[in-house]
Amino acid sequence: MQFHLDGYRPGDPSVKEAHPAAQDLEAGLPETADVLIVGCGPAGLVLAAQLAAFPGIRTLVVDRKDGPLQVGQADGVACRTVEMFEAFGLAEQLKQEAYQVNEVTFWRPDPTDRSSIVRTGRIQDVEEGISEMPHLIVNQARMLDFLREHMAGSAARIAPHYGLRVSAVEITGGAGAAEGPDGPGEYPVAVTLEHPGGTSVVRAKYVVGCDGARSAVRTAIGRRLEGDALNQTWGVLDVLVDTDFPDIRLKSVVQSEAGALLIIPREGGYLVRLYIELDAERYGDLLRERAVTPEVLAAAANRILRPYRVEVKDVGWWAVYEVGQRLCAKFDDVPDGETADRLPRVFIAGDACHTHSAKAGQGMNVSMADAFNLGWKLAGVLTGTAAPELLHTYSAERQQVAQDLIDFDRDFASKMAAGSGTPAAASEDGEEQFADYFRAQGRYTAGLSVRYEPSMITGGGEHQDLAKGFPIGMRFHSAPVVRLADARPVQLGHAARADGAWRLYLFADRVGPQAADGPFRRLCDHLASAASPLARFTPVGAEPDAVLDVRAILQQPHRTLESTALPAVLRPRKGRFALVDHEKAFCPDPQHTDIFDLRGIDRDRGCMVLVRPDQYVAHVLPLDATAQLNDFLDGVLREAD
Ligand code: FAD
Repeated sequence: MQFHLDGYRPGDPSVKEAHPAAQDLEAGLPETADVLIVGCGPAGLVLAAQLAAFPGIRTLVVDRKDGPLQVGQADGVACRTVEMFEAFGLAEQLKQEAYQVNEVTFWRPDPTDRSSIVRTGRIQDVEEGISEMPHLIVNQARMLDFLREHMAGSAARIAPHYGLRVSAVEITGGAGAAEGPDGPGEYPVAVTLEHPGGTSVVRAKYVVGCDGARSAVRTAIGRRLEGDALNQTWGVLDVLVDTDFPDIRLKSVVQSEAGALLIIPREGGYLVRLYIELDAERYGDLLRERAVTPEVLAAAANRILRPYRVEVKDVGWWAVYEVGQRLCAKFDDVPDGETADRLPRVFIAGDACHTHSAKAGQGMNVSMADAFNLGWKLAGVLTGTAAPELLHTYSAERQQVAQDLIDFDRDFASKMAAGSGTPAAASEDGEEQFADYFRAQGRYTAGLSVRYEPSMITGGGEHQDLAKGFPIGMRFHSAPVVRLADARPVQLGHAARADGAWRLYLFADRVGPQAADGPFRRLCDHLASAASPLARFTPVGAEPDAVLDVRAILQQPHRTLESTALPAVLRPRKGRFALVDHEKAFCPDPQHTDIFDLRGIDRDRGCMVLVRPDQYVAHVLPLDATAQLNDFLDGVLREAD
């Protein structure tokens, strides 16, 4: 974490100095906003937290509820989400508080007494080396607390406005919507907000509906959730229990003759979540009569867990969670076929555009990932550093991810439910297959299998061989390195902050900066020149790394190099006092496998790895491919005025 750049400031460095344009938290509703976010769930607050990095963007966040969520809803936090939280500086806090899922156990009917269950398997939850971050469990409400604290401590000082229900969204700009943020129709979206005092209208440049499965924003733009309205019903109990079940502190998948149960240990050491499948055969009448209660669910848990018992001492939250796999055809207001002539003004994210069963634990994670995909794009367009066409990539990328998730989820949920008394699934083979399946799908549930197709922000794979371990279109897989200037072991991926900047990682060839006329020095010289993307795309007055942050990874041991001898582009001067930023260069960590080997970097040739602000690899290029780098960035970024 870097701070004190503009002068020594005592106190908590995570609370930034308020920007002159920071929001006045006491003021009422503004008449206009650059971005109006509807909904303070995981999607809405990740988007708000991302936009909080841009105090010049006026972000308004509203929710119909009277205040923040306190208990309930999702609790699974995938590795990828923890990686994203790291970019907000929130991962340490999260890891400290959450339950960490390390192993999963499987239980099935005892072949000698099918009315009892026995443990049949125990596997590692997260495959070794797929992420530096763990799989965590913590209540959704706490995730949202962390995000709100981040927003409150940002230079923009953003806080949600509760008690405002969106009842109408109207795009009044018509053709003006295509004229970009500076043209006529600057605030083309009118949003009607209902509150106890009456009705208000706020006009916005962009509106993002993060308003959940019954989204009013989705309805307003004529999009529909399509698919199975109701797929499965599960009882969810967050409880304190007294039990003799041996795996109560392990994630456990139980498939007995009496039904299916998923045990999710929760944060704090005592709380546990029980998911109980409420199949139509056993529970149809109770569901129809709305007669499912915590007592009904506890009794079901006891039947499923026989010969073990659970005595519920306290119910923190419970719900009957009915959900289908449903998806919108597009996640913005531009109809198919009109993308060439129209720019999106209204977006939908999270449950507003896709829903799926709770079993794969993806709801909160994918919703947050939608917002993280959209946030930097909106920020780039609104600050004028990116081409407005970038906004089309949000729906194109995330709709495909949601479709893949629904396909996965359907399969996963049916396998979870399959144990309910069906001989095939309850057989040894069935159980083994499920454990294998569970293992194989680990990358998916960790949120690490997303791969974006080539587009204006994802390059082709012609130079992928130079960095086999950084697949283009997939998230930048962090690795351990040592920071050259202070010899601190760090994760390279943690250089990425949620600040909207692209990152250009220069993996040096064998000689690297030591060759005065080698490819590495020549590239650095280009990046320091007036023709470089840094000079062309960084707005006047912005820090040199505000749009494109250049980092180098050298092959030599850190003790053999002098950081003062690095090229100027790796020692940029920043802030009021034009101080050198010493944290741009890294070397292999001798305590770990060398990053060049770990990520399959061509040691002879080195390479550039260009990473998007949302941490996805945009391109892999040779060190001498400066023209290709410029061409690629020309397609996305706008030259500074
Ligand atoms: P949400 O979290 O739904 O947030 C939407 C927000 O928009 C809400 O705060 C809402 O008040 C607000 N809003 C809605 N309409 C308007 C409007 N017109 N004007 C203003 N504000 C509005 N997932 C699991 O993995 N496991 C679970 O056990 C589980 N249980 C759930 C139980 C419930 C009751 C619900 C609703 C969801 C549950 N989920 C669960 C799903 C998970 O919580 C969601 O996938 C996740 O919250 C989606 O995030 P989101 O930000 O897209 O939407």
